[in-house]
Amino acid sequence: SKKPDAPDVVEATETGAEQASPTPHSAVESFYNVHIAQLQRALAVAGLEEHVRLILSQPKNEVIVNFPVRMDDGHFELFTGYRIQHNDVMGPYKGGIRFHHEVTLDEVKALAALMTYKCALLNVPFGGAKGGIRMNPRQYSERELERITRRFTHDLGNNIGPEYDIPAPDVGTNSQIMVWMMDTYMNMHNAHDKNAQRRIVTGKSLTSGGSRGREKATGQGVVYCIQEWAEEQGFRLDGCTYTLQGFGNVGSHTAQILSRLGAVLVAVQDHTGTIANPDGIYPGKLNHHVEKHGGVGGYKGARPIYDEAFWEVECDICIPAALELQITEEVARKLKARVVVEAANGPTTLAGEEVMMERGIEVIPDMMANAGGVVVSYFEWIQNKRSESWQLQEVDSRLHFMMKNAYHEMRAFARERNVDNRTAALAVAIARINAVYVERGVFP
Ligand code: GLU
Repeated sequence: SKKPDAPDVVEATETGAEQASPTPHSAVESFYNVHIAQLQRALAVAGLEEHVRLILSQPKNEVIVNFPVRMDDGHFELFTGYRIQHNDVMGPYKGGIRFHHEVTLDEVKALAALMTYKCALLNVPFGGAKGGIRMNPRQYSERELERITRRFTHDLGNNIGPEYDIPAPDVGTNSQIMVWMMDTYMNMHNAHDKNAQRRIVTGKSLTSGGSRGREKATGQGVVYCIQEWAEEQGFRLDGCTYTLQGFGNVGSHTAQILSRLGAVLVAVQDHTGTIANPDGIYPGKLNHHVEKHGGVGGYKGARPIYDEAFWEVECDICIPAALELQITEEVARKLKARVVVEAANGPTTLAGEEVMMERGIEVIPDMMANAGGVVVSYFEWIQNKRSESWQLQEVDSRLHFMMKNAYHEMRAFARERNVDNRTAALAVAIARINAVYVERGVFP
């Protein structure tokens, strides 16, 4: 159950969130305010120039397009698409495209800002952006999805580009959508370096210029974080238990990799239901079921439980890998986990976070935990640019190295300054961005 945290809106006004456009969807509007409030906590410890604080409080560009698409039965539908470019001081804008029926401007703004900090924290030379179309992709045929994607890409026009703004998959999109975007872009831009131009999007299929290891990259990165956490704690992953919300790209790969290390998946929740099995759920088998039936509901290797009961399931590690604002105050009080690893973007509300701090539940924040996706997107972009094709082992070991470094930078800051992991991760990222702005100044 999503619930807006009313007082946060008041708190958030200081850095300009009051300019956030009004939306009828108050729960989603609060996501941007949650982000601004988290940012303010980090600003308090990061020490930032006033002009940088102002610049970061709003995205640089907000592109909104409304476009018609012919459906298979001949009628037309009008779609609203977004591309929000938060910041590009560290490099070209970078971030996913979300197809979901609850996409709003404020949600995409928060997600775009998160990308800026994620890239800065990981030392990926990209800025932050996010896009999306407000629609339920499950309601459309393959051919309709192709036309929607191509028309959206067309209408974004020069607002994206291989050295300017590079989309990638997110909730509701995949490598096929990326390849359609790429093909549309190439047809629109008659450049001679077609091969290199493939880097207009990342997260492509291997056939069309994608990188080995990109599909599992976010899940792989989540597991690298969990391994670092476990080592720090002297905690054995072999035989420990975990719960998972969301069984899409991120959730399913996280589970398949984590269970191979001996961790036991005891409950899973997605849009089709909640299932539990204290003896363990096989992620590989569950994946077959999900591919066939579209969700975890009805899986024979576990029993169905009430949706509300999911957060009460006893476990060592809780992994939200679905949408934002899931861990509310109420949920945080029920949790029986030692650590929450945010594989999703923005799964924790402010009140939820406060309760977790009170209760001593550690959080590995989104911008750290799920950064594996954009890191390997960066590798894909480099490979395209250089006409190279790296082996999986090389991709994985480079990813491991970058995740590990960022994790320890976050932890060192958290320890030295006695702050939580999210504040530390944001502060490390902000300090990097601040240094660039101080040196470069503001035009004119
Ligand atoms: N959508 C992913 C994220 O939220 C990946 C973005 C990318 O690869 O550009 O980080």
